[in-house]
Amino acid sequence: MRIVLDRPRCEGHGLCEEAAPRLMHLDDEGELVLDREEVDGPDAALARAAARVCPVAALRVA
Ligand code: SF4
Repeated sequence: MRIVLDRPRCEGHGLCEEAAPRLMHLDDEGELVLDREEVDGPDAALARAAARVCPVAALRVA
């Protein structure tokens, strides 16, 4: 499965990072960086959790 970020939509809230810190982080300028894009197993569940908490629906798992 793949994490897809809609970058123009992302507002840098960072809730996704709290949900899945090993998959993504905010850089020094508040831009979200995906540390992994292909995920499976427990990481896919983490990625879906991150997508669920995003308040502007900027993340999805496809
Ligand atoms: S929670 Fe959503 S808006 Fe916030 S950094 Fe993550 S993807 Fe961007």
